[in-house]
Amino acid sequence: MQDRVHNWINQFDEGYFQPLEILAAITEELGEMAKELNAVYGPKRKKAADMSSLDQEIGDVLFNLSCLANSLGLDLKECFNKSFAKFEVRDKDRWTKKEL
Ligand SMILES: [Mg+2]
Repeated sequence: MQDRVHNWINQFDEGYFQPLEILAAITEELGEMAKELNAVYGPKRKKAADMSSLDQEIGDVLFNLSCLANSLGLDLKECFNKSFAKFEVRDKDRWTKKEL
């Protein structure tokens, strides 16, 4: 995903936005994602609301997150693995495990 985003951005002279500009874009896309979720689950539901636009908004968040990571030289997979390792240790016994 990050390579694909980089190849896309790299074809333009402007390149990546500055980190805080990308953060603003991520925030904007999170808001759009929240709007879609609110339309389905929130108190002011749309009559014909469905989840059809949610996948696109999640994709928009991922695109912008990839831009941020690329511009900072970070590997999202490594970022995730580092984060997940924390959950695996810290939250190991936090939740009720399913009987298997
Ligand atoms: Mg969007």
